[in-house]
Amino acid sequence: MNVLLFGPPGSGKGTQAKDLAAALGVPHVATGDIFRRHLKEGTELGLRAKGYMQGGGLVPDDFTCEIVASRLEEPDAGAGVLLDGFPRTAAQAEWLVRWLAKRGQRVDALVNLVVPDEVILERITGRRSCPSCGATFHVVFAPPADGRCTRCGAAVIQRDDDKDSVVANRLLTYARETVPVLPVLRPVTTIHEIPATGDVAEIRARVFAALGLS
Ligand code: AMP
Repeated sequence: MNVLLFGPPGSGKGTQAKDLAAALGVPHVATGDIFRRHLKEGTELGLRAKGYMQGGGLVPDDFTCEIVASRLEEPDAGAGVLLDGFPRTAAQAEWLVRWLAKRGQRVDALVNLVVPDEVILERITGRRSCPSCGATFHVVFAPPADGRCTRCGAAVIQRDDDKDSVVANRLLTYARETVPVLPVLRPVTTIHEIPATGDVAEIRARVFAALGLS
């Protein structure tokens, strides 16, 4: 089963993804995580993505689709994936539909996490991330313990692209480039609009109910 987790930056895709992927029995594939891993390891791919990511813009489509294709070709992705942060442009959406069709698959569902802009800004600028294990925190709603990750103990950081100046550009990019994914996919999949403010467990329950999971 192929499910897309969709929504603006800060809508909680990463927070919801792990439980959802486990319930679906498919791997969680987040393009942002893939790019960040390459950046951290200093690979050529990371260096190519760096400038786009730091400015809050998108990595070019051909390059991004290539990376997604190689991840989807791994054996654990054969029965489907939970995609998080992809597709992010109409061209990526068209590519994905074609790529899956060649393998007799489709986008089975899209979960759109709907959050007002002012909530997003509060969430992203307060977000702190663990550079070691990827756990996320919030300075007010889920603070790290003494600035350290409660899971692995590493010092948490604010992602460069979570800083005020970059967030505005990420939201603009979302409105301009990513919202146009919806009209491409609406005719070929089921879109579930999920109000994604409030308690994390409640949002998860809404997502699970929409997909018929328990
Ligand atoms: P995220 O963690 O999903 O917010 O992604 C962080 C950054 O990685 C984005 O701001 C983009 O620069 C880049 N990125 C992630 N996914 C994509 C994608 N599907 N297409 C283009 N760029 C992406």
